[in-house]
Amino acid sequence: MSTLNSSIQAPYCGRFAPSPTGPLHFGSLLAAIASFLDARAHGGQWLVRIEDLDPPREPAGAADLILRQLESFGLCWDREVLYQSARLPAYAQALQTLQAQERCYSCTCSRPQIRDMGAVYDGHCRHRSHPPTSEYALRVRTDPLVIGIDDSIVGSYSQNIASDCGDFVIRRKDGLFAYQLAVVVDDAFQGITHVIRGADLLDSTPRQIFLQRLLQLPTPVYGHIPLIVDGQGEKLSKQRFAPAIDSADALTLTHAALSALGQRVPPLKDFSDNAAQLEWAIRNWDIQAVPKLATIPQASRL
Ligand code: GLU
Ligand code: ZN
Repeated sequence: MSTLNSSIQAPYCGRFAPSPTGPLHFGSLLAAIASFLDARAHGGQWLVRIEDLDPPREPAGAADLILRQLESFGLCWDREVLYQSARLPAYAQALQTLQAQERCYSCTCSRPQIRDMGAVYDGHCRHRSHPPTSEYALRVRTDPLVIGIDDSIVGSYSQNIASDCGDFVIRRKDGLFAYQLAVVVDDAFQGITHVIRGADLLDSTPRQIFLQRLLQLPTPVYGHIPLIVDGQGEKLSKQRFAPAIDSADALTLTHAALSALGQRVPPLKDFSDNAAQLEWAIRNWDIQAVPKLATIPQASRL
């Protein structure tokens, strides 16, 4: 097993990469704050990337709203915001690189067919003899490699990329580039050295490292924070009617986020404003204190 997480020597550069499917809710605020604090505590840069690759799922104005929310919480980013919608030629080029390695194949399997295969795609379309005549997705052919990380929060995690994950989609049937490809291309393009994000993406990490290797891109250090779940144990999301965070509550919500991240934050009354609270949080950021859990329930008072 290979552990790659000490490979990057460049100055710290972190990022927050929301998909603009709606305003930030408490769960996404946690990822924003954790990635911001880890970057600032290292004296590093913190970038924002809008992952707007799926227009049907992105209400007009959502990206702007997210940026205003970040500002109103005092989460100020460095450099210009990168929009994935402006990066399609870079993804096309990465795809070409994979195609030149004969790593990709077209897949015409239907959703029900894929569902019947269980959790892992069974490689059904690997050996197609004729070019597809209907819409197709592009999958990358995986090898039976064990890919492991030393996650800075949850510790070691590994997957056999072929048997645990299987050949995965890098361009969807509808022609859109898949998250896995875009995220790898852009983390490298932006010089990201550290990725702090929600635990729902832990099991995507080996796929991303697999692509980084094929594309000869560096592997950042990864850290996965617990996911905030609602009373039914479901991830907070727009689909689950998670409320948008309100900038009028920045002080309280940031305090709740710091507590959820295991930081021993002094009582609210000790802070004159949210800038002071964030300053405290940067100075005292303790990544070891972040709960090593996949999920934590949202406190009912929020
Ligand atoms: N855009 C992804 C999301 O909002 C996060 C991507 C990442 O942090 O790698 O879930
Ligand atoms: Zn198929």
